[in-house]
Amino acid sequence: MIRVRVTAAAAALAIAASAAVAPAAHADPATARANFLGVSLAPGTAGLTPQLAIAYTLAHREARASGVALSVTSGKRSRAEQAALWRQGIADYGSPAAARRWVLPPDESTHVTGEAVDVGPRSGARWLQANGIRWGLCRVYDNEWWHFELAALPGTACPPRLPDAASR
Ligand SMILES: [Zn+2]
Repeated sequence: MIRVRVTAAAAALAIAASAAVAPAAHADPATARANFLGVSLAPGTAGLTPQLAIAYTLAHREARASGVALSVTSGKRSRAEQAALWRQGIADYGSPAAARRWVLPPDESTHVTGEAVDVGPRSGARWLQANGIRWGLCRVYDNEWWHFELAALPGTACPPRLPDAASR
């Protein structure tokens, strides 16, 4: 009898353990880390690197607490999405060299690797430019007020901005 009880208890524990582990095993890395930190990720952060998703989420939360509207207008992009933007950029600007100032091909875009967020509205971007370094978030290009990346350690200083994406 005792052996049966122990076996049943062990089985119950095993079931409980697998139930507890299963959801985390299926969550993407950013969500898993956010759950661990007790943070729910901000809208628009799906597919970003865990570091960027969490840094942006914390900035977004602080912006809201300060009464500032801030949202992601474009985050992670698939290679196909970036390829379409690149083709459109070449059509709009007349040449790959001219297009590169505004859009990069899939192999070079930090949106494809989940390492960039475009934000809006302009007032929110201005707030993020002034405050984002608290989480390591920096505006990267002079010609794109909306584009931010993790570019420095939190609380240090953002590196000098590049003129545009073509100077990368
Ligand atoms: Zn961007």
